[in-house]
Amino acid sequence: MKSTSIYDTFNRPLRDLRISVTDRCNFRCPYCMPAEIFGDRYEFLPRADLLTFEEISRIVKIAVQLGVTKVRITGGEPLVRQNIEELVQMIAEVEGIEDLAMTTNAYLLSGYAQKLKKAGLHRITVSLDSLDDTVFQKMNGRGFSTARVLDGIKEAKEAGLQPIKINAVVQKGVNDHTVIELAEWCKNNGHIPRFIEYMDVGTLNDWKLQEVVPANEIVDLIGQRFPADPIVPTYQGEVAQRYRYRDGQGEFGVISSVSQPFCGDCSRMRLSPEGKAVTCLFAESGTDLREWLRNGATDDQIKQTIVGIWGTREDRYSEERSEETVKRKKVEMYHIGG
Ligand code: SAM
Ligand code: SF4
Ligand code: SF4
Repeated sequence: MKSTSIYDTFNRPLRDLRISVTDRCNFRCPYCMPAEIFGDRYEFLPRADLLTFEEISRIVKIAVQLGVTKVRITGGEPLVRQNIEELVQMIAEVEGIEDLAMTTNAYLLSGYAQKLKKAGLHRITVSLDSLDDTVFQKMNGRGFSTARVLDGIKEAKEAGLQPIKINAVVQKGVNDHTVIELAEWCKNNGHIPRFIEYMDVGTLNDWKLQEVVPANEIVDLIGQRFPADPIVPTYQGEVAQRYRYRDGQGEFGVISSVSQPFCGDCSRMRLSPEGKAVTCLFAESGTDLREWLRNGATDDQIKQTIVGIWGTREDRYSEERSEETVKRKKVEMYHIGG
């Protein structure tokens, strides 16, 4: 079917769809799901509330008709959703998807990578904040060491889920002293690290600006050790600022959503596990699509709903960030994915 691009109020097209398939996670990263809040008694969404794989792939097919070419499966932790490879396969079969990726903490990736590749996943992004076990144990909130994650990454590489991007959230005084080690390991292993400024997503992590390490500091730090030059963005909406090492051995990126926001190019819509369309990482809420899916709406009705949501989109939170907005009600990162 023919695809028609749609644009929001700032003339930004809809291109990417990020699908959060679960609100559950096997980690408790303090900046995302602090263990004190997400304890044993925390009530996650009941199964019946989650969109089924059929419902998700129906939304994907409709979104592709509206210009989406890139899909990312995220969470919570996508690998804790049972049989996720079945969803991967269903999405991979949708004509018009040029890029199908997954963001995962990789704890369950070992033994799974090959299956995901076979199902049609193109590539994988692994969140790994530090290679230093003591730091990593603290940052995943569960005391897990890096060994299983590293095994998972190795298998993903062998399976051809490449290029592998390694996402690290940098927090001052927590893991900033391990940035070089991670950059060097990625360089030696052919992975692309992306250092992310710690963000005020959600309302649970008690975010403070002083804990953010600005992207330019990270660029300087890495550049002093491994000289690198900026790479011109390859497409509109590229989130990371990329740098290529002068020795020709790879690249790294920084994501500066706090110090240098990039809302002007933001072409991403998010789908929450229970079927809400969310147009910004920092939105207060989303628009329920599940109701439409479960009440017999036609594809065209759902399409028109998405056209309406995108057509009235005015989000540019990171450009408007202030002491006031930081305190505002926002959707949680573990709920809608990165
Ligand atoms: N569980 C998967 C993972 O960690 O890769 C997927 C979901 S997780 C919410 C997606 C990404 O969001 C991760 O790379 C994580 O580091 C990032 N993230 C979560 N909270 C963040 C915050 N406060 N600031 C910056 N990045 C954050
Ligand atoms: Fe889980 Fe990912 Fe959030 Fe960490 S960042 S708690 S791995 S969802
Ligand atoms: Fe996009 Fe919202 Fe992030 Fe701006 S703040 S880049 S609009 S998700």
